[in-house]
Amino acid sequence: MASWEKTASSFLHLFRLDKVKHKILVFALLATLIPSLTLAWLSYVHNERSLTEKTTEELRNVSSHASREIDLWLKERFYDARIFSNSYEVSENLDMILRGRRAPTRGVQAPRRLKDYLSSVQEKFIDYEELLVLGPNGRVIASSADSAGPVNLPPDWLSQVEGDEQVVGQVYWDESTRRAARLIAVPIKAADGRFLGALTAKLSFFTIKETLRNLPLGETGHVYLITPEGRLVVSSRIGSPALTDLRLAAHTVQALLAREASSLGYADYQGTGVVGILQRVPQSDWAVVAEIGRDEAYAQIVRLRNQTALMVSGLLVSIGLIAYLLGLTIVRPLNRLTAGAKKVADGDLDVDLPVVTRGEVGYMTRVFNRMVARLRRSREQLAAANLSLSEKNEELARLSVTDALTGLYNRRYLTETLANEVARAQRHEHAFAVLMIDIDHFKKVNDRYGHLMGDDVLIGIASSLARSVREVDYAARYGGEEFLLLLPETGLDGAVKTAERIRVQLAGEKYAAGKDKVTVTVSVGVAGYPSHGDTPESIIASADAALYQAKRRGRNRVVRARQVRRKATFGTPASKRRKQA
Ligand code: GH3
Ligand code: MG
Ligand code: MG
Repeated sequence: MASWEKTASSFLHLFRLDKVKHKILVFALLATLIPSLTLAWLSYVHNERSLTEKTTEELRNVSSHASREIDLWLKERFYDARIFSNSYEVSENLDMILRGRRAPTRGVQAPRRLKDYLSSVQEKFIDYEELLVLGPNGRVIASSADSAGPVNLPPDWLSQVEGDEQVVGQVYWDESTRRAARLIAVPIKAADGRFLGALTAKLSFFTIKETLRNLPLGETGHVYLITPEGRLVVSSRIGSPALTDLRLAAHTVQALLAREASSLGYADYQGTGVVGILQRVPQSDWAVVAEIGRDEAYAQIVRLRNQTALMVSGLLVSIGLIAYLLGLTIVRPLNRLTAGAKKVADGDLDVDLPVVTRGEVGYMTRVFNRMVARLRRSREQLAAANLSLSEKNEELARLSVTDALTGLYNRRYLTETLANEVARAQRHEHAFAVLMIDIDHFKKVNDRYGHLMGDDVLIGIASSLARSVREVDYAARYGGEEFLLLLPETGLDGAVKTAERIRVQLAGEKYAAGKDKVTVTVSVGVAGYPSHGDTPESIIASADAALYQAKRRGRNRVVRARQVRRKATFGTPASKRRKQA
């Protein structure tokens, strides 16, 4: 056991936890932090996972919806363009213009009519910013705009169109409109199938922008189209002119492309932390990015973190308070004990520590006080040793007849005195009485307040008894919590009266036990000479029997011994009577 204690103590010493105060504090801290932080961590992990899943799901829905819509929109634009290019107005007039070069008189009206057609179609459809008709060599023949814009198409576009393919150009930045733009081109053929040129449309992204804007995606949600280089083309939140130089970092685009359709945390074009997903638009080099602010996506976690912080600090404060109180009731008295012990060690025995707590520490303090009191008494006795011989003898004689705890006579002395009293009473034909007093339920006092407090009660009762008898009477501690009073020259009636007075007086006394007050009652057996015997033993036996009766009848009462059958007579000593018998 001791070796364990040693090991534990050196282990604690490693962490400098030698002081009780520190032990309590560290224990309180660990007991608070470990469970609460573990719980918080577990719920954080759980929450993060489910929030990530939820956010990913949302972003994926939005981005795939957007990508589908854009794909469809692009297909519709090609379909439209095919219809425009197949219209009679386009092929016939273009053919005339081309021919007119060779026969100018016939095609004089054609350019005007072609331009009018293009303008009227462009005005009707919001998806086109400009419609152009190009000749077989790629030269602009007519445009819906007053002055035709640049033709930004791939280098080999003409041969592709001639091969009946539809061509889509790269997204470019149109300085005149301050918007991103993109061209598509389809072939124009004459009724007999001859290749006449191309119809080119400069797309307006208005419809796409509206589609993106209507997608549901939180407060910080943002959906946009990017080019393969990461340039923002159309955005659900930002107007065209402001989009000019916005682009995602190249490594972000790469990471998003590498994990297409899975969510990823990254910094957006502004450097703000977001969670986003990228999905390519089929048959084009566009990609849709849907993202939401990290803070919004994980707002619940932030809330959880704040709540946890609040809860943990609350717990720390209350546990800290309890630890402080614990420290106060353990450490303070211990410090007092240490200081007291030091004083005693230095030779100062004038120490009496206040007992403010119950339990082990209070008990220890009381034991300490008692120990010091004993030391004090021994010192006084030692001092007495320096007295004269006759004084020493006197002191020795006094000590030999007193009870150490209560200061009353001890049992041995009382038995001797009783024997003398019997002899004297027989000689002078006088009566005397004895009272046998026993405290009621004294075990309970010990059990409840401890043996030391029990001793204090015994001392209190003894001093009460000493005060309430006459000079000539003898008060002795007969046993543990039994007292015997010898009342010379006292008849039974007087003895019963005295017993009753003492009983009432003792029942009214209060003894301090810490912060409580203890009251006790006593039972008393009364016997006398000559009525109840003519030897010390028989008289004591009678008093004891009466006491037993008092206990049996409910305690806190006085009972007179029963008259013995053979009445003792004055003047005949017991030894003689025994011989006669
Ligand atoms: P009752 O007499 O009413 O029947 O009940 P009780 O509880 O007093 O029982 P009993 O007289 O049999 O027990 C006496 C108890 O007194 C037992 C013991 O613990 C206690 N006692 C005896 N001597 C001392 C002593 O010197 N100091 C203290 N504190 N207690 C003592
Ligand atoms: Mg007893
Ligand atoms: Mg008792």
